[in-house]
Amino acid sequence: MTEKFQIAVIGAGPGGYVAAIRAAQLGFKTVCIDKRETPGGTCLNIGCIPSKALLSSTELLARIKKDARNNGIVVSDIGIDFLQMMKRKNEIVKGLVDGVSSLFKSYNVNYKKGVASFVGPHQLQVNNEIIEADYFILATGSDSIALPGLKFDERQVVSSTGALSLNKVPETMTIIGGGIIGVELASVYRRLGCSVKVVEMLNMICPTIDPALSKQLYRSLQKQGIEFMLSSQVVTSVVQSNEVILTVQQENKMQNLSSDVVLVSIGRRPYSQGLGLDKVDIQMDKKGFILVDGSFKTSTSHIFAIGDLIDGPMLAHRASAEGVAVVESIKGMPSEVDYLTIPNVVYTNPEIATVGMTEAEARELGLTVFIGTSYFKSSGRARCLDETEGFVKIVGEKKSGKLLGMHIIGPHASELIAEGMIAIQKRASVSDLASAPNAHPTLSETIKEAAEAALQ
Ligand SMILES: Cc1cc2nc3c(=O)[nH]c(=O)nc-3n(C[C@H](O)[C@H](O)[C@H](O)COP(=O)(O)OP(=O)(O)OC[C@H]3O[C@@H](n4cnc5c(N)ncnc54)[C@H](O)[C@@H]3O)c2cc1C
Repeated sequence: MTEKFQIAVIGAGPGGYVAAIRAAQLGFKTVCIDKRETPGGTCLNIGCIPSKALLSSTELLARIKKDARNNGIVVSDIGIDFLQMMKRKNEIVKGLVDGVSSLFKSYNVNYKKGVASFVGPHQLQVNNEIIEADYFILATGSDSIALPGLKFDERQVVSSTGALSLNKVPETMTIIGGGIIGVELASVYRRLGCSVKVVEMLNMICPTIDPALSKQLYRSLQKQGIEFMLSSQVVTSVVQSNEVILTVQQENKMQNLSSDVVLVSIGRRPYSQGLGLDKVDIQMDKKGFILVDGSFKTSTSHIFAIGDLIDGPMLAHRASAEGVAVVESIKGMPSEVDYLTIPNVVYTNPEIATVGMTEAEARELGLTVFIGTSYFKSSGRARCLDETEGFVKIVGEKKSGKLLGMHIIGPHASELIAEGMIAIQKRASVSDLASAPNAHPTLSETIKEAAEAALQ
């Protein structure tokens, strides 16, 4: 059987499902295909949402332990029902993926479950069906990178997917890779009482973040009991029935680490296996990212690619922004993604959220910058919340006075960053932020104070 569409979207993650819905809204006859049981992609099924659900449950546990007594709340018998925690996480995921299915129905997006593979320039095979389309949007995302010699069994040697679905809290866990996913999952399991060690090749964690924030996070996580081995590399590994033994080299020293579970979080790579790209002319870079132009067009003019499959920060909201932009450009509407306004968040405690340029990036571009910092310890609201760690750092451009970047480590940074995102999108100046009449007492006053400090 052959079915014809105007747009076929492959992948129903935050890139693909958003693109498919926008295409249907603009009147295109659209099909969206995903091989997973449920739509929502990595983000909803095995990424952003399940990790944030577990971070939120364990954050509640940590807060009760740390702050209840000082707040005059007496809690006895704090225990962990890990299976209930996982059940709650699964219910949150189910609610959201069901929401995507309902959106597909209400916008008339034809959803098909199956592997989509090109069999011709305008034809895909999905199960026993041929799908023909005028345009194709590839949104097949990314996959965890394994370490040579340490194959994922998702039981003892796990990727983030396995770490989000363990059936008991391990006593010991070694995490290879101190990037964002590594430190988030380290926080989850440390708060649950697991002894967690993070082995990181570089001399810092979360290297894409401004070093001042990354150093503060490192100190805070150490205080929470997470052990770090920086400038360290795993050289050999042995998986035994009840433990995994890693030999780790730190400078000239070798050390054996034994743990119940090893989480490998050394990064993700673009995923295009099974797409049949040999049947169409699609160029990729050395890392496997599909090459696209400013309108997300690949080397074949009716095939487009977005999200984790193309180079750039692997973030759900970036994929979604590209999903809207690609469809609008196919329609002939003016549309582009303003990458400077895409925030990046680390959902640890304290949280980190950044948008725009770091001080170093701005200086590398030859810009003269001015900087302002303000600390949450002087915020009345932060004190009432018992969350006084961290600061806001503002980066402005001297010549124009414009805000170039906002970098927050502290309470609710993930929500506060929206102010910086809008300010950069609207090309606001640092003095616009300094003159904003923020409500009192709020955490956002610390942003205003950082802007005032930058202007002094
Ligand atoms: C543990 C973890 C936590 C994360 N947390 C965050 C966060 O807090 N915030 C954030 O912004 N980002 C986060 N991310 C990253 C985010 O999940 C990704 O950037 C985002 O999902 C990318 O969206 P996408 O649409 O490009 O691809 P994906 O979400 O990966 O979706 C691609 C889909 O394509 C399907 N597919 C692949 N090949 C085929 C084929 N041939 N036929 C049919 N279907 C196919 C796959 O099954 C998949 O469902 C996290 C990732 C992980 C792993």
